[in-house]
This record gives sequence, structure tokens and C-alpha cells, in this order.
Amino acid sequence: MKSRFAPSPTGFLHIGGARTALFAWLWAKKTNSKFLLRIEDTDKERSTQESVDAILDGLDWLGLDYDEGPIFQSDRTERYNQVIHELLSNGKAYYCNCSKERLDSMRESQIANKEKPKYDGCCREKSLKSGVIRFRNPDIGSVSFNDYVKGEVSIDNFELDDLIILRSDGTPTYNLTVVVDDHDMEIECVIRGDDHINNTPKQINLYEAMSWISPKFAHVPMILGSDGSRLSKRHGALNLLSYKDEGFLPEALLNYLVRLGWSHGDQEIFTIDEMIQLFELKNINNSAASFNQEKLEWINQSYIKKTSTKNLVENLSWQLNKHDINLNNGPSIHDLAEFLRERSKSLVDMAKSCVMFYRDFDEFDEAQANKIFNANSKEVLEDLVDRLSLINDWSAENIHSVIESICESMSIGFGKVGQPFRLAISGDGKSGSIDISAKFLGKERTLSRLKMAIDWINSQNN
Ligand code: GLU
Repeated sequence: MKSRFAPSPTGFLHIGGARTALFAWLWAKKTNSKFLLRIEDTDKERSTQESVDAILDGLDWLGLDYDEGPIFQSDRTERYNQVIHELLSNGKAYYCNCSKERLDSMRESQIANKEKPKYDGCCREKSLKSGVIRFRNPDIGSVSFNDYVKGEVSIDNFELDDLIILRSDGTPTYNLTVVVDDHDMEIECVIRGDDHINNTPKQINLYEAMSWISPKFAHVPMILGSDGSRLSKRHGALNLLSYKDEGFLPEALLNYLVRLGWSHGDQEIFTIDEMIQLFELKNINNSAASFNQEKLEWINQSYIKKTSTKNLVENLSWQLNKHDINLNNGPSIHDLAEFLRERSKSLVDMAKSCVMFYRDFDEFDEAQANKIFNANSKEVLEDLVDRLSLINDWSAENIHSVIESICESMSIGFGKVGQPFRLAISGDGKSGSIDISAKFLGKERTLSRLKMAIDWINSQNN
């Protein structure tokens, strides 16, 4: 058995598309089936290589691997023509040369008569040899299918148009290509957005016209913005890969996506294996899901806290590449990531926190320095240099004891030592626990940054 994801490369891969892909992928894994990727690029004007790349990169980042494909519809023109000619020769399709003017006036009068606008079949019996090709939709009876998500759907054939299957420029249309492909590629279950549900009856008639068995369908509801309107740019990043840029772990995004419109009791966090095990099409919600950025951030943070160090570092490395740092010039990134994961909101945040450990800086944040560095803190910094220099075993405990001993001898609170210490070693005052940060920074670097801070204070006094 097989499922498929069949995006049109007319834009980037967005959140909705990624969720459809995830559902189709989960179904394939769950049923030990194959997952196929098909790029629906018959619309030459709107399809771009950039979009194809964005789709492939997006799926790759999420780890939604496919067993077959990518198959490009543009490579299958011959096959579509073959099917169209079979339909023509069976009388199930016909040429139509109605002018745009005729079609427009036909539509206008249908609307004026309060009829549903549809092609009136004018060319059906004309035996023309050129023009667009239309499918001869049955006039009587109805089309019904049982959708995994929507339940029983039924529509009278009378409501359906004789749809165009070959355009005047010789390119086949979506409804034709999708049927030929889903049949040829032996797709068992078509999982797609419910914006296609109105196409399904037309497609089922095409299957019947070719005496093919139609697949099963699951139409997944839209994703809406938190305000209930259609998801758009103002609800946050829509391009899937921008979530990579923003420091999300792919597993966190998958977890968030699976919960958008699908549930298993009130469980929120699922490993991929759990998703596969528990996923059922019938548990997909029938109504639209709303996108909630805060929840996504919350899930990301919980994944950052609990994912394996190896996975964390692998994903972090991509962010670290954006900073000009050399990981050989500092602590073990694995140890550092372990330390930073508790306090990082995202991988972007975490990568920023890493920089101070690998790259020296020339300047302190001016506002902070003006506030914190002064005659009093200079005394503290000098004392720190003296006492820290004496440490042989550069451990967080020993650094902590030094801070405590200074607090005691100067009768000051921890903050009075911690604040200038933190600014001295970080440059911007942003670091986690000061003793652990100093430990990771190393003795030599810590002392040299403390001295730099003292020099800064001296230079202010001159
Ligand atoms: N290519 C269509 C789209 O991107 C999907 C078609 C389908 O899944 O049947 O909307």
C-alpha cells in the first residue's frame, strides 16, 4: 500500500503542507506502506525550481523521508495524453471550442436565472477535432464516498461540470493528472487538504470512466490563525524552513503539527515512534485547527530540555555556523549544550549564548558597563583576579567558594560580586550561572576578561 504527498511547486512548503505530508507519512509508517513524493508541476507558469528545492529541503529537515520519488508530473505528459485519448475514443471526453465570450454570456444568464454556473454541454455532440478537451461527466446519478475525516459525502452528478482535462495550450489539468497518477502509482489512501474536497467527486467520475478503482480519501481541515481567519503571514512564519532559522527542533515542529487537528486523549508530547503507533486517520478533527505560536514555542522548549545531547548538538551546529566561531577554541560543545539547554528558549538563543565561550570580544556593552563598572566593582574584580589565580582545580565549586569568600571579606551580597563578574566575562551581562559559566570559559580566559574589565574602569578614570 502507498500514500503520497503531492505538492505544487508554486511557493515554499508551508505549515499546512507540512502537516498534510506528516499525516500521509504517518499513515504509511503505521500501515507498513510506502510514502511517495510527487511534484505537481504541470502549471509551468507558476512552478519554480526554487519551490521544488524548498519542498525537498523542508521534508528533509523534518525527516519525512519518502520511499518513492520525487516524481515530476512534467515527466509524464505522454502518459496523460494516452489517457486523454483513451477517454476521447471511448466517447468519455470531447473537444470543445466554445469562445470565452460564449462561455461568459452562458455563465451570466445562468447566474441571472439563479442556476449554478456550469458548462452547458454545447460541444458534446459536435465531434470536433480541436479545442480544449472536456470530460463528459455523467448526467444522472450521484457520486458518494466515505471520507476518513469528513464521513459520508454525496453529490448529484447534475451539480458537476464537464471539466476541462486538456487546456488549449496542450497541458493537462490537475484533476486529470492527479487521477492518472494516483492510479498508476497505486495510491491506497489520498490524504490531502480539504480545499480539494470539491474536486474529489469529479475525480471519482474520472476513475470510473477509466474503469479504475478509486483510492480512499482523507481530507484534512485547514489550519487557521489564532484569530480564526485563514493562516497568513501576519500569524507568524509560514515558510516551514523559517522555523529552522528561528531555532526550532524539527521533532518539536512535528509534534506541534501532529497535534494540530489530531489528538490522542490529552497527551501533548509524542515521540515519532509514539506518533506512528497511535496515529489513526479517524482521529483527525473534522473542524479547522488554529495555529498557536506560544504553544509551538513551549513544545520546542520542552524538546530542547529533553532531547539527546547528540541530537541537540547536531541541530545547534547549524545555528552556530551563522556565528563566526571556532568550536575547537573553547569548551566541549556537548558539555556546554547540556548546561545551556535548561535556560534556552530556542536554538537561536542557545547559539548566541555559546558565542562568549569561543570568541573574545573587544568591547563591553556600553550601557551595562557604565552602570556596573565603577570604583567599587573594580575592587571586587581585582580581588577576583587575585583569588581565582590561586585555583588549581578550575571547578565551578572552587569558583563559587572564591565568590563567597569575597562576599564575606567585603561584607557584600552575592550580586555585588556576581554582576561585575558576569559582565566582565560575557561582555553583555547575559550568561547563566556565573560559576559554571566561568568554569566553561576556562581559567586563562576568565582572568584575561576580568583584567580587561579592570582596564576599562581605569581608562574611564583617566
Ligand atoms: N497539488 C495539489 C496541491 O498542492 C495537491 C493535490 C492532491 O493532494 O491531490 O494543492
